[in-house]
Amino acid sequence: MSSPRIIAISNQKGGVGKTTTAINLGAALSERGLRVLLIDCDPQANATSGLGVNSKALEASIYDVVVLGRPLLEIAIALEHVPGMTLIPSTVGLAGAELELAELPLRESRLRLALDGVADFDYVLLDTPPSLGLLTVNCLVAADAMLIPLQCEYYALEGLTLLTHTQSLVRQALNPSLRLEGIVLTLFDPRTVLSSQVVAEVRRQFGDQAYETVVPRSVRLSEAPSHGIPITQYDPTGRGAVAYRALAEELVTRNSPVAA
Ligand code: ADP
Ligand code: MG
Repeated sequence: MSSPRIIAISNQKGGVGKTTTAINLGAALSERGLRVLLIDCDPQANATSGLGVNSKALEASIYDVVVLGRPLLEIAIALEHVPGMTLIPSTVGLAGAELELAELPLRESRLRLALDGVADFDYVLLDTPPSLGLLTVNCLVAADAMLIPLQCEYYALEGLTLLTHTQSLVRQALNPSLRLEGIVLTLFDPRTVLSSQVVAEVRRQFGDQAYETVVPRSVRLSEAPSHGIPITQYDPTGRGAVAYRALAEELVTRNSPVAA
């Protein structure tokens, strides 16, 4: 049994499409028959609620795993309405973890340890909070690679320096094998010149580290979470679903050992 690829979907900025990407990339991967474990590491629990799980009613969450050391799979929720996808949920209680982790042994590696030996998945996607605190550091230490959603807006590139700096610190001190999976441009609006300029600038700076797939701004993508289902089901043939399927295809190709 091979171990899963662990991908942290990371950007310390909020509102760039991390959670939307975690849910819909995950759903598109599972549509291909791949087994996906989505771990909601954000106290805002948007990935949890966006997949139709009421975080207020939960008895356990990722908090129990990273702070209390409970085995990860004990609290896993197999999503019956998204076959192939399993969720480790979050609750607001996770907000306290940021401070509590600081006092614990192996405070940066607790998620990595929890994922040790978890084998029955092809991909583990980590939806990270919009900060560079210990929860995010735990994600970067646990991950093989980070996928960075970047909103097509003027300030998009500014925060990237900080993020790549954090990545190099984590690599130096804690996880030398952390790779940059890629940058995925999100919230692309073809009607604005600015959107196209951001795409061009990111391609210029990052070459093929920028994914070819660009996720368009689509009202359907923002509506789907309130129905608790991914875009692949909410609007299966729309632009958002098409984009996330293309992103899944690209990710799988890039991670395939036989890729040309
Ligand atoms: P993050 O997790 O980085 O904070 P989200 O994925 O929650 O970002 O996205 C922020 C907001 O933008 C949410 O309301 C979400 O529904 C919306 N959104 C994200 N991606 C798109 C998109 N491609 N088109 C339209 N709305 C989007
Ligand atoms: Mg989010």
